Formats: sequence, C-alpha cells, structure tokens
Amino acid sequence: MDSNEKVIIWFRQDLRINDNQALSTAFNYAQDNQYKLVALYISTPQQWIEHDIAPIQIDFIERNLNQLGKSLAQLGIELKHAEVSSFTDQINFLTTFCNQQNVVKVFAGKEPEWNERIRDSALIENNFPIEFTEEHCAIPPNSVKNKQGKMFKVFTPFKKRWREIASTQHLKKIASLKTVGVEITFNEIKFNACKKDSSAWPAGEHSANIILKQFCEQKLEVYKAHRDFPALNNTSQLSPYLTIGVLSPKQCLRAIIHYYPAAVVDDTTAADTWLNELIWREFYRHLTVSFPKLSRNQNFKSNADKIEWRNNPKEFELWCKGETGYPLVDAAMRQLNQTGWMHNRLRMVTASFLSKHLLIDWRWGEKYFRQNLIDGDLAANNGGWQWSAGTGCDAQPYFRIFNPIEQSKKFDNTGSFIQHFIPELADVNSAKLHQANEIIESIENTDLYSISNKYAPAIVEHKAARERALVAMKVISQK
Ligand code: FAD
Repeated sequence: MDSNEKVIIWFRQDLRINDNQALSTAFNYAQDNQYKLVALYISTPQQWIEHDIAPIQIDFIERNLNQLGKSLAQLGIELKHAEVSSFTDQINFLTTFCNQQNVVKVFAGKEPEWNERIRDSALIENNFPIEFTEEHCAIPPNSVKNKQGKMFKVFTPFKKRWREIASTQHLKKIASLKTVGVEITFNEIKFNACKKDSSAWPAGEHSANIILKQFCEQKLEVYKAHRDFPALNNTSQLSPYLTIGVLSPKQCLRAIIHYYPAAVVDDTTAADTWLNELIWREFYRHLTVSFPKLSRNQNFKSNADKIEWRNNPKEFELWCKGETGYPLVDAAMRQLNQTGWMHNRLRMVTASFLSKHLLIDWRWGEKYFRQNLIDGDLAANNGGWQWSAGTGCDAQPYFRIFNPIEQSKKFDNTGSFIQHFIPELADVNSAKLHQANEIIESIENTDLYSISNKYAPAIVEHKAARERALVAMKVISQK
C-alpha cells in the first residue's frame, strides 16, 4: 500500500454528509484500503451561465458548500475546490488532478440531466476510475417500469408502482461517518460567478433537517387543506435544499414514515398529499433520464411543435416584471423576482398565463424561471412548464385554461398575498382586487381603471385570450 494514494468523493448535486451513499462508499473504501479520503467540488461558472443557473442558487450552493466544508474539516476530511469553465474542462481537470494526486478511485452521485450524463459517460468510456451511486431519487430511475418494461407516461400508475417498490425497500439510514483524523482548518470557498443574496434561506443540512422536522410536526397534518393558498405559507419550502442535495428525498421519505408509519402503503394518511408531491418530483426525474429530449428544449408531445406561438417580446417583458394587470399573476412574478422562490399554485397560474393567455412559448418562461429560482431544477421546472402548457407527459389538457381571476378569488380570497407583493393595490378592497385592471371607458377622466389607476392595465382580455389559445393549441390533440 502506498500511503500517498487517495480516494476522492466528488460532490455535485449532493451537498450533504448524511444519507450520502457516494460519501459513505468512498469513506469505507478508503478506510478498508488505508487510502486518504479527500473531498472535491469543481465549480463551473461558464456552464452555469449556459444552463441558466440563477445567481441566487449559485449563492445558495456556495453557502451550503462552505457549511459542508466546515463539517468535513471537523471529521478530518479536506474539501478541495477547483474552478473551471465547463463540464468538458471538468473532465480534463479531473484527469490531470487524479494523475498528479495519486488518486486510485473517485466516487460521485449520479445526475439525471443530459449534459451531466454525457460528461459522466465520457469519463467511464475513458476508463477513468469512477463509481456512481444513486443520490437524487428515493427509487432510482429505470427501476419503476410498466409491464412492457418501459417508463410510465402517466403519473398515476407510476405512483402506484413507485409505492409498491418503496414499501419493499430497505430505507435504513446510512451509518454516520466516523472521524478520520484530527480536525483540520477549512478555508472559505468563493465562487468567481454572479451571485444574488440567498441569506433568507439558512444554509447547511442541519438547517434543512430542522425545517423538515418542523414541517412534519406543524404543517404536514394540514398540508392537503392549506397547500394551495400562498398566503398561508404551509408548504415545506424544502425545494432549494432538495435541488442541490443538502437534503435527500430518502430523508424526506423516512421523516414521513417516522410520523405516519403506514404512509407508503396506505393512501389515506394525512401525509399522502405531500408524499404525492415527492413522487411527482421523482416522476419528472425518471422522465428526464428516459427521455433525453426533455433536457434539450423539446416538447414531450411532438404535435406541440406545430403550435404557432405569438412570442410577443413586450408582453413577455411585462409578464416577467409582474405588470400584466392580472393581480395574482403579477403578485406571483414579483414574489419570484424579490425572493427567488414561488408558491406551486402560482407557478401553475403564471405558466398557464404565459403559455396560453399570451401564447408565448413555454421555453421562454422555463428559462426565466431557471434564471431566477433558488430551487431551479431542470426536471421539475421542465415538467411543470410542459404540464402547464399542455405539451408535456401526462400534462394538463390544452383546453383546460386557468382563469386567473377565478384562481385569485379561490386561492387568495382576502387578497393578502396580492397586497403584500403589489403595494399599488394596498387600498383596493378585496371584492375588486381579483379583477383584471381593464380600462373603463369613463367620460370623467378621474377613474379610468377598474381596480386602481396606480396599477398596470390588463395586457389581454381573458375571454378573448382563452378563445385564441383554444384555436392555436388544438394541434396538440390532432392525429
Ligand atoms: P412542497 O409542497 O413542500 O413539496 C415537497 C417537495 O416535493 C418540493 O420541495 C419539491 O421537491 C417536490 N415537489 C412538489 N411539487 C412538485 C411538482 N409539482 N413537481 C415536482 N416536484 C414537486 N420545483 C423545483 O424544485 N424546481 C423547479 O425549478 C420547479 N419549477 C416549477 C415550474 C412550474 C411551472 C411548476 C408548475 C412547478 C415547478 N416546480 C419546481 C414544482 C413545485 O412548484 C415546487 O417544487 C414547489 O413549489 C416547491 O415548494 P415546496 O418545497 O414548499 O414544496
């Protein structure tokens, strides 16, 4: 044995110590063979720009990586950081680094996206000594199949099969890591990339686990009843942690089972609706692996290629800014712009409004979300956008078009969410608040607008836009 030989744990979208199969396998491998275990993170600012990673997510990754580095240092494991431009450069860097540093083996968690998989395949084809583990799903992609051995294209049977598999799975915790030596010093990592403050979200897996516990103890019971009301703030807000792997889906599943032991087999427990959302997350990740075109900007339904989008740049800009004149849509977009996060109900409403009311290609919205979301995740974002636009796998039918005024009345009836994000509407009473701000043809010039003359006029009339979308999107259903 050469004591200089090293084993690398390469952290990517799995920035945690607990429940990390790659880390645990690397740790055991190093211990068994008396190699030194070193952790590595390779940031790729140019690739982040190409992948539209939001500056707030980059900041969140940096803060979580620093927490991870400190925790590893306490265990005596050094976290090295390298910065290269792109995934191709990552391959070159790794090859040189491993040669120079006497690395015998690298362990890493799998990633579902296409470019990431191309990079990993290239490493394997070059006989690079790397081993991948499953980190991003509770049940691995390609293991939830229909009777023909293929990936499901409908959510409900996928969910049923997923639950059958989950009920037989051994969800035992991965043993905690032992210290490998004395605590070492850790030097803070700084990315050379555009960042936006993410400090509203506490960093580190300890924080993520506290949020998970508090959610399970205080909100899970009423999740089904409250989750659609943005003002109630009753969802877990764990998506940023799940996206970059500070928390694993198995940790969420174990938490559900801890509080509701029968939750996986019994669909009547109070945890069922939340469990379903986690399964939607897995569904989209499995689809991303099975259908690479989803990572390549393509409609899932090829008929949707025939849609003639209007793609009006001015209207797109108003949608981005939250100035469409539809209060719920605008409050939602301002929530995204101000906080880097948006409530799920509102993601559906804004995505439907852009793709159907404005007939703007869903890919424009998908990109804007990615550029601004702290939890931006290719699989869930693409899945959500294609679901909303009617172009996706098991999507909302093209003829179901959310009425933004009715959605507003139903899910923000008192208007407290709207008024929080649209101060121009602070004085407007809740009976008027949900209407679009149409211009009233008033003889007097004093009250030109139906809601408030401080607020933007509606950029489109609901009924007419609906009719237009029905005609334009009919091609989706044509044989
Ligand atoms: P909770 O309601 O507490 O749900 C728990 C977890 O389940 C979430 O953290 C998330 O990981 C997962 N989840 C919940 N709903 C969904 C869903 N519909 N699809 C997939 N996973 C889900 N989610 C992202 O994580 N990243 C995205 O980029 C993203 N973009 C979206 C775009 C659109 C147009 C739509 C309609 C949905 C998108 N979602 C995305 C899904 C969902 O809106 C968010 O996961 C959810 O709002 C996050 O809040 P939460 O953590 O409080 O969720």
